[in-house]
Amino acid sequence: MGDYFQTIVDLDATERDAQELGARVLEWLIAEGIVAAERTDCVLGGDGYGHAPGPHFTKAVEEPDPVDLWSNGLHVQTGRTVFDSGQGDAGAATCPLCRTEIRLVDEVWEPIESAWDPFKGRFQDWAEGGGEGIVHCPSCGGSSGIDRWSWEDDYYACGHLGFTFWGWAELSSDFTRDLGRKLGGHRIAVLRGKL
Ligand SMILES: [Zn+2]
Repeated sequence: MGDYFQTIVDLDATERDAQELGARVLEWLIAEGIVAAERTDCVLGGDGYGHAPGPHFTKAVEEPDPVDLWSNGLHVQTGRTVFDSGQGDAGAATCPLCRTEIRLVDEVWEPIESAWDPFKGRFQDWAEGGGEGIVHCPSCGGSSGIDRWSWEDDYYACGHLGFTFWGWAELSSDFTRDLGRKLGGHRIAVLRGKL
């Protein structure tokens, strides 16, 4: 066991509405008994504080495991963030304009240096807010912000709002869909990773 986490990222929330949307979803999760209302020392990310599983947390997961209540919290993150899946590498990136998939790793899962060239430094540009992290697609030649690219297995996601569940069993697709609905039907990415 490592420190397993799942992050649901809202891909459409803006800097301005992230806080309010985060509060709305949290309120729903507390009302459903999926997480506890108070923040306790129970997560590994951020400041270590989060919401422990509530009495009905099993509503959110596929196959509930017995949970260790100490390290299984929810952390809500707002603000411009490049979310990633921790260990490993992204396998491929897909252009939002031409939908061409660009392989980023070879058959033994080693990063392909040249394939990464169009993306170098772009996450940083976007995260720092100084630029949009414009990527020139090697396939169609079009330009688009790195936040609009999609990544195999949702390895990365650029957004202003993310819900990280630490150590929870696999979140069910019904649950992630309901959460997306609470976000006003925004597009979401679901990252699954380990620290
Ligand atoms: Zn393209």
